[in-house]
Amino acid sequence: MVKKPKFQSPTGMHDILPEEQKYFQRIYKVSENIANFYGFKKIDTPILEETELFLKGIGIATDIVGKQMFTLRTKGGDYLTLRPELTAPVARAYLQHGMFNLPQPVKLWYFGPCFRYEKPQLGRFRQFWQLDFEIFGEKSPLIDAQIIQIFYNILREIRLKNLIIKINSIGDSQCRPYYKKLLTSFFRSREAALCSDCKRRLRENPLRILDCKEEKCRSLISRAPQMLDHLCEECHNHFREVLEFLDEIELPYHLDPYLVRGLDYYTKTVFEIYEESETGRTQGALGGGGRYDGLVKLLGGKETPACGGAAGIERIIGVMKEKGMKFLESAPPKIFLAQLGPLAKRKSLKILEDFRKQRILISESLGRDSLKAQLSRANKIGVKYVLILGQKEALEDTIIIRDMATGRQEIVKLEKVVKEVEKRLKK
Ligand code: AMP
Repeated sequence: MVKKPKFQSPTGMHDILPEEQKYFQRIYKVSENIANFYGFKKIDTPILEETELFLKGIGIATDIVGKQMFTLRTKGGDYLTLRPELTAPVARAYLQHGMFNLPQPVKLWYFGPCFRYEKPQLGRFRQFWQLDFEIFGEKSPLIDAQIIQIFYNILREIRLKNLIIKINSIGDSQCRPYYKKLLTSFFRSREAALCSDCKRRLRENPLRILDCKEEKCRSLISRAPQMLDHLCEECHNHFREVLEFLDEIELPYHLDPYLVRGLDYYTKTVFEIYEESETGRTQGALGGGGRYDGLVKLLGGKETPACGGAAGIERIIGVMKEKGMKFLESAPPKIFLAQLGPLAKRKSLKILEDFRKQRILISESLGRDSLKAQLSRANKIGVKYVLILGQKEALEDTIIIRDMATGRQEIVKLEKVVKEVEKRLKK
């Protein structure tokens, strides 16, 4: 058995190897195009934030804050946390940079890693990447529908097909407290049947119970009162309009009365998008989000309606791989530069630079000294022309252009080589 090297990447954290990069790039490109189309500006925030931001923003009783944060104490005694999600940091940046003074709404998008101390399993890592779209300063239900449409479109453009949108409304500070009371009394009389986590949730925030994946809790949850039956008039009308907008753009959705999402800052609309796998393999939601009208105020700003969502890059890649998606490989270089001798080697860097400036792909093997080895490499790549810079050519400022198909060789002036090659490539 081959012995594992002593150092491995930390549990639940992975390298993104060269062969994985094309998946990331594809998702990034599609997201960027859609962001530009809908007028979103890119933002990046630090990997670390003050721990307090997440305690306040996400909520102390949530699993993320209670169990999943990577927190460290600095030498100066401050507590910092590796961001478990991006909405609270982006809301912090919106406030810190006075973006409330800009014409509203402010639309921001993001692509970066997040960290959660979770039990690693299929589709669940400790470091994972998210793409994130947020709209601040707009209360219209149209925005909720647009955010859902954006995530749906991104996934469709990546060519994922069997997408399911789950949607619910979790009300606001007007109607949710009453619903919470109803939930509490429903579960209190059945407390013995709950898992130990849910017993705790019952005291801290009964809404969290609806999120529980334990089988014995699920069967109780399916009989619990539903928020949709207890929305106040404003939340009811808002939700109705969101659904009407979704109908208008013909997005298929399922009402899921028990969808609450694992973060405290949501108000009104919440949604998640899943892919119905042909193999029955399930790795959880590809993305999700909702409205968070209270978050900016909670962090010290003015009342600011807002809505957004995030999707997990590794989970999207999981589906892309499962479907065996192919990518157009970028065209291999048609030119190879072979060099012989110290002077030729020295001149090679300048030649490569001349080709780069003209945007002509050129390959090389500067570390090799033997011409035979270099030519065999050029053959493997399958280039059309090899440029050979021997000692004599380097001294005379010339270079040989060898046509690999015919074996014909021509000597040209070094300063003209880019033009000469361009001419031949156009033929
Ligand atoms: P959340 O806000 O927790 O629903 O996260 C948004 C999206 O990020 C999810 O729908 C997943 O696609 C992804 N995600 C969340 N947690 C993880 C994780 N631990 N590992 C991989 N992806 C995750």
